[in-house]
Amino acid sequence: MMTEVPNPATGQVEHRQALMGANAVEAALHAAQAAFPEWAQRSLDARGAVLRNVGAALRARRDAIQQVMTAEMGKLKKEALAEIDKCADACDFYAENASKYLQHEPIKTEAQSSYVRYEPIGCVFAVMPWNFPIWQVFRFLAPTLMVGNTVLLKHASNVPRCADAIADALREGGVPEGVFGVLHIDNDQAAEVIKDPRVAAITLTGSERAGKSIAATAGSVLKKCVMELGGSDAFVVLDDADLDKTVAAAVKGRFDNAGQTCIAAKRFIVVDAIADAFVQRFVEAAGKLKTGDPNDAATTLAPMARQDLRDELHHQVASSVANGATVLLGGKPGEGHAEYPATILDGVQPGMPAYEEELFGPVASILRVRDETDAVRVANDTSFGLGGSVWTADAQRGERVAQQLQCGAAFVNAIVKSDVRLPFGGSKRSGYGRELANHGMHEFTNIKTIYVA
Ligand code: NAP
Repeated sequence: MMTEVPNPATGQVEHRQALMGANAVEAALHAAQAAFPEWAQRSLDARGAVLRNVGAALRARRDAIQQVMTAEMGKLKKEALAEIDKCADACDFYAENASKYLQHEPIKTEAQSSYVRYEPIGCVFAVMPWNFPIWQVFRFLAPTLMVGNTVLLKHASNVPRCADAIADALREGGVPEGVFGVLHIDNDQAAEVIKDPRVAAITLTGSERAGKSIAATAGSVLKKCVMELGGSDAFVVLDDADLDKTVAAAVKGRFDNAGQTCIAAKRFIVVDAIADAFVQRFVEAAGKLKTGDPNDAATTLAPMARQDLRDELHHQVASSVANGATVLLGGKPGEGHAEYPATILDGVQPGMPAYEEELFGPVASILRVRDETDAVRVANDTSFGLGGSVWTADAQRGERVAQQLQCGAAFVNAIVKSDVRLPFGGSKRSGYGRELANHGMHEFTNIKTIYVA
């Protein structure tokens, strides 16, 4: 079977990807298992040297990788290059810090010696999304390879050449055969891979729908999984917020990557006293965003990654409007193949898709609230719990609100971001488990107790 990959900016099919057959999948599983003992036994310095070479290979290939990312999922050239650089830096970071994160942790007991050590577990199967087609993979891959695990990647079906570009960089960096493999497979084949005894654990970054299916399959064979799922992050604007900074952050936080970011600000929860001023300036600033060719430096809003996703987003907008939301900006599909303009909806209320669901595209929802207490209530009135941000002139007040937000990461006067130094992951239906920092590095280890009486 062939999967067609149209260019989101033009609609032209630029690549057809064949699915792998059973023999090729079997060979990849065998290779991952065979490669594990030698890779796991290498010293951290030796694995770190390979990781640094991978980072260098990414930097050396950045222009070619950018072109593939832009052709496959429409990412702006500037955003794609920044993403590749972030991945290269992550390779260096984990090469540098793995020994600190993985060192034995002594625990005082009555024993002569008791401590925790972090051991690799084998092959981790990664199911990844298209929205940050390189970063989502490296965010998990760099720490996992440093731990000593092997990896099989099933990437989203609209970014097959991104998956191959990652494999090329890893090969060039000296990652041994079998330590990393790409599986071009469908979701039924993925379920068989999850159940295969040679796979030790699973990590998914993707939608709630995929999460339920993959976690159920993993559960049926009692395998650990990490779930990085969707979000509908609150962007709480308190009455004393600095509007210049807040509006600039709101535009960036909602519309970068065409709004297709799990931790994008999606619900703008604005206290009444400042709401009109904020909304007016937000609409003005977002109205300046320019759609067009993602390779053109003048384009500031990328097309969405696929036409079906654009249509799904528009359906959510139309249904919210039919239920009483007001369109302040945009609100209709653009002319390009998968283009959607910057859109702002006001008067968003419970029951509307814009309130209840994740809007995975360039649409901002305005939710007006009475005061700080009401803002916290509305921010937490969601099934998601990925990130959230608070905007205020008073950092202590911001911290107090941030502590009350039910989510994996709450930022004050800063856009929620992923950062190799900070743990990343969700609460509620945004998933479980963590990536990045020491917490992420420990997810796919055997946290083993040693006790010497
Ligand atoms: P998606 O449709 O769930 O796809 C993600 C991956 O899961 C793809 O590789 C997809 O493969 C696969 N998949 C889908 N259904 C599956 C199933 N039943 N069994 C096995 N694999 C399955 O999500 P997406 O549209 O690519 O990404 C957008 C979603 O990801 C949003 O909800 C976003 O918030 C979330 N996300 C979360 C994070 C985070 O860190 N929490 C980060 C980025 C994105 P196919 O393409 O072959 O269907």
